[in-house]
Amino acid sequence: MEEDIIDQLYFGRIVPWERQVEKPPEIEQCSDQVCEDIECLQKSLDEVGKKVLERFLDNNSEVEQFQVKESFKYGFRLGMQLAAAGLEKSTINMESSNWRGNDMDNTSTYICPRCGQTYYEPPALSREDNQTLICPDCGTREALESIGVDRKEQEEILAIIHQSRRNL
Ligand SMILES: [Zn+2]
Repeated sequence: MEEDIIDQLYFGRIVPWERQVEKPPEIEQCSDQVCEDIECLQKSLDEVGKKVLERFLDNNSEVEQFQVKESFKYGFRLGMQLAAAGLEKSTINMESSNWRGNDMDNTSTYICPRCGQTYYEPPALSREDNQTLICPDCGTREALESIGVDRKEQEEILAIIHQSRRNL
């Protein structure tokens, strides 16, 4: 039976920090050269130099590990935010069929009570009280807010969504 990602999680097979990536040949070459150069330095340096080299390598790997970890977190959060924003859109589309059957009609424009913008698309339901109708963008804002995305990032994500819609 093929394991899906949740099976893999359950069995502890997802371990980002010890993930080994296959290096392309040119990177493999760089990496070999680094090892060779370290060996060369270790042989040619005096005691003080060796200590400096050792300290340099330790600190460098510390910084590198930190950066890799932060990049992983950034990539993960960004992916989650985009997925959440995408899901929010499909919820709104589903709601729009009910909305069309209501006494509001398609040609009307509405003013969003949350941001004050005029909008033409089917509204979203505010998460705050589950009854206020807000504009689709504010629906996305609330969804992102609920997963801890700050204001600035919310607007950045909306810009990406608008951009991708224009390109459709
Ligand atoms: Zn709004």
